[in-house]
Amino acid sequence: MNTGQVLLVDDDPTLLQALPHAISLRMSGVEVETADSAQVALAMIQQHAYDAIVSDIKMPGMDGLDLLATVQKQHPETPVVLMTGHGEHDIAIRALRGGAYDYLLKPIDRDDFMASLQRALQTRQFRRQIEEQQRALERYALSLQRLVEQRTAELRASNAAKDAMLSMIAHELTSALTGVKGMMGVSNLQRPSSNGMEQVRQGVVESPLQRLERLIHDLQDASFIQTNRLALHCTRSDLVELCRSVLDAYLAGTGGALVFEILDNHLQAVVDPVRISQALLNLLANARKYSPEGSPISVTLQRRGREAIISVRDQGPGIPEEQLPHIGEPFYRVPGSGVLSGASAGLGLGLYLARTMVEQHGGRLEVQSQPGNGSTFSMVLSLEAACAEH
Ligand code: ADP
Repeated sequence: MNTGQVLLVDDDPTLLQALPHAISLRMSGVEVETADSAQVALAMIQQHAYDAIVSDIKMPGMDGLDLLATVQKQHPETPVVLMTGHGEHDIAIRALRGGAYDYLLKPIDRDDFMASLQRALQTRQFRRQIEEQQRALERYALSLQRLVEQRTAELRASNAAKDAMLSMIAHELTSALTGVKGMMGVSNLQRPSSNGMEQVRQGVVESPLQRLERLIHDLQDASFIQTNRLALHCTRSDLVELCRSVLDAYLAGTGGALVFEILDNHLQAVVDPVRISQALLNLLANARKYSPEGSPISVTLQRRGREAIISVRDQGPGIPEEQLPHIGEPFYRVPGSGVLSGASAGLGLGLYLARTMVEQHGGRLEVQSQPGNGSTFSMVLSLEAACAEH
């Protein structure tokens, strides 16, 4: 059954009487109000939103097409059915182009009139349903947006709390370590210096104190990175020389099997040599730790386009594919992986530090690994200055 409120506009008083009567007989749920001019109709439209408007086109003063234009502006959701005389096809076309829902020819055929009005009311009903669904969707989208904002704020707060905690722990441990070393009469093991070679201690058999110091330095670097306090001191560096001195120092400490392949002899890049050495050492230390004692490790330095690639390849058990996306996350350790030779396991920060340090140079850390087939970690560095030279 159709329901709704209809406004009927016509300057013909006979039609204004006959049509509402016919509607009340055939569509009992429909209420009809009438206006004998477009001006009167306009005033009524300001007061009330009708479900459908049926209007004559030709009326003295304002005509049905002008009325249609106003309804389109003020109540675009209200279907307007226009009525016009026989033979006035151009007017009918203008009506449709102007956005009329339908048009009827006079003299009005009652069945056509009822069918058209019924469709117009149904259309209004569908439009209302769509509007309601849209509003419900908008409400839902808004509630989702609020939820995301709330969760983001919570995450930010807990992340900031974690950063503050990490920074505090690193700071407290550093001062405790300085105190212990003072009591033991051990000189301060330094933070990375200008050539970064103090870092070449991971390969050497470490004393418990040295190991503790390395872990604390890693924690401190992680804290610097997470609070954007890690500053790079970049300078134009010879990458062949940089790799060679890191490897020499590493070999002097471990005496392990290591092959260094230089595929391009003149590779210079603007980098922080301390941090790049530190990243390379972390990769070397891992290659040693996570592969069997004595198995060969190869380091390759090569150019690919505008990039230099320093790769460290080992013959270890490799990393399962599903773990690869997590490699380089802070504190991440592959479940079940154990140290196979040399130094003891760390905190899961070595690759995080290597990755972020390389990334801060505008580069990236790539991993290729297959279980049983070893792993290759590659530092990809831009040969064009990616960080400011000091
Ligand atoms: P960790 O201090 O545990 O060595 P890293 O960040 O250096 O931390 O490495 C993270 C994890 O990635 C390690 O715990 C290990 O499981 C895995 N891993 C790193 N390097 C290798 C490698 N060369 N071969 C196999 N697994 C590796």
